[in-house]
Amino acid sequence: MSARTAWSGPSRVADPDLARAAAGARALLDSLGVDLASESLARTPARMAAALAELLTPRPFEMTTFPNDGGYDELIVARGVPVRSLCEHHMLPFVGTAHVGYLPGDRIVGLSKLARVVEHFSRRPQVQERLTTQVSTWLRDRLGAAGVGVVVEAEHLCMTLRGVQAPGTTTVTSSLLGVLRDDPRTRAEFLALTRPQR
Ligand code: ZN
Repeated sequence: MSARTAWSGPSRVADPDLARAAAGARALLDSLGVDLASESLARTPARMAAALAELLTPRPFEMTTFPNDGGYDELIVARGVPVRSLCEHHMLPFVGTAHVGYLPGDRIVGLSKLARVVEHFSRRPQVQERLTTQVSTWLRDRLGAAGVGVVVEAEHLCMTLRGVQAPGTTTVTSSLLGVLRDDPRTRAEFLALTRPQR
């Protein structure tokens, strides 16, 4: 197996059509009664299109893995990885952190890549539950890890700014696979490492 594998993601999206998106944003804002005539708002539809395109376009990255020559067999956990995504029901942001851990098999991965995997799956219309399991199953399948654990804690603006308006509420989701699911000691160790430090 080669040590460096280019990967462009399971769900490539077409390049965004920014002109059409800006026209759509203009129509949306206009129909909501937003006056776009002032100088300050004149370019808002174009900026809105560009911002949404950025949030919905996954960046390809190279998944660099290395042989686990030292036979390292303890948990590796990246704590506090930023999560920024859009809820697919309202197209409003949800924002928080992920803790991503694995128990290596034959391969280990560059630590920064754990954050890149989270970012990659965040940049699309998402629900937090699916984001959590996409990160865990992808790492298990790509690394052949003995176990993978992912915990995501996020605030959904569709919940805290509107609707039920529950400010400060966060949603926690987790996905435990392999040894992290089946072995009580490893599971407890991972969950202790990812517990909020308050
Ligand atoms: Zn929502």
